[in-house]
Amino acid sequence: MSRTLTELKADNLSFATPESIGMEVGDLNETTRKALLALTEYLKAFIAGNKCPRCGSEIGGIFGSFMWGIANGEGMCANCKYPMRAIHRIKEVGTINNLILAYHPSVLEDK
Ligand SMILES: [Zn+2]
Repeated sequence: MSRTLTELKADNLSFATPESIGMEVGDLNETTRKALLALTEYLKAFIAGNKCPRCGSEIGGIFGSFMWGIANGEGMCANCKYPMRAIHRIKEVGTINNLILAYHPSVLEDK
């Protein structure tokens, strides 16, 4: 069942975090602490987990539901077109490739 953006916004879905994308956070020095803060802030534009929030399709892995869009690094759920990003350029962290994350509903606008 397809859900509207308004309904998804009301769900208060969990934000992605360094831990939710599989990072192990060890001892931090000043530089890595700054990078981790930047990454944590950046990830608040996405939801935790590897399921499309709208249709529930799995979005990562070989059989995942993801298709590239026109913009570089951007894409969508192949099933319901929910917007996602797979290439992440994060100041102070660098580029993370092939990490498919669905946008958090709070950063999306109704079209
Ligand atoms: Zn979907």
